[in-house]
Amino acid sequence: THFGFKNVDVADKEELVGKVFHSVAEQYDVMNDLMSGTLHRVWKDDFVKTLLPLSVAGHGGKTIDVAGGTGDIAFRIVQQSGAMSPSEPPVHVTVCDINSSMLKVGEKRAQKLGLPASQLDFVQGNAESLPQFEDNTFDAYTIAFGIRNVTHIDKALEEAHRILKPGGRFMCLEFSHVANPVIKTIYEQYSFHVIPVVGQLVANDRDSYQYLVESIRKFPTQRKFERMIRDAGFSNVSHVDYTAGIVAVHTGFKL
Ligand code: SAM
Repeated sequence: THFGFKNVDVADKEELVGKVFHSVAEQYDVMNDLMSGTLHRVWKDDFVKTLLPLSVAGHGGKTIDVAGGTGDIAFRIVQQSGAMSPSEPPVHVTVCDINSSMLKVGEKRAQKLGLPASQLDFVQGNAESLPQFEDNTFDAYTIAFGIRNVTHIDKALEEAHRILKPGGRFMCLEFSHVANPVIKTIYEQYSFHVIPVVGQLVANDRDSYQYLVESIRKFPTQRKFERMIRDAGFSNVSHVDYTAGIVAVHTGFKL
């Protein structure tokens, strides 16, 4: 492998992920724009557009956005559902993240955007174990660019299943795998050579962005991840690739 993170064990991984996001919290949003050429905004818009109609908007649905970071998904859910069904009961989103620095930045952003405090909660928690939430609580569970950082993905999926109501929807947006060999080569060159350098120049933090690239490479393929979601008890599991599979949206229902 290219980088120095290849042999991190479980405890190390948790510590590393903690450090990475404390150190990037302040520049996190700018870096997303830079690294993805603002594509992440399009991916997140499409992701939320897919989620809202049946599961959330129109009936005041309750969503938990896990690994919600600085609020990108949660804010879109609140804003888009308000625009889509203004006269219906307002939706509610709980932003849950393991990292207090990310949550703090998120709360400040929510205030700046003038989003109603009654529609948003910020709760610190670990995706692998969410005892603060009862069984059958949420209409939707979203996780965007988060599950890749979780040490025991199977545990996180089981917790997602537990806290969703029957009929509730699981939706995950995550970096995935490009099948087209030409696009794959270009994408690999970009991730291995450009991302760490931009990370160094802009955030003065090469390691965090090397970790990012490495964790994307190690994440299961679309098919394998579908299987993991099914193994956690979800039904009607499927995925859609965005941008040739650079990212994929996986979804499943608790029946
Ligand atoms: N969802 C946001 C977005 O799309 O912009 C943030 C994504 S950010 C790449 C990943 C987030 O996952 C970080 O805020 C990090 O603190 C959080 N995270 C990492 N491990 C976690 C865990 N085990 N439980 C909850 N959050 C976690």
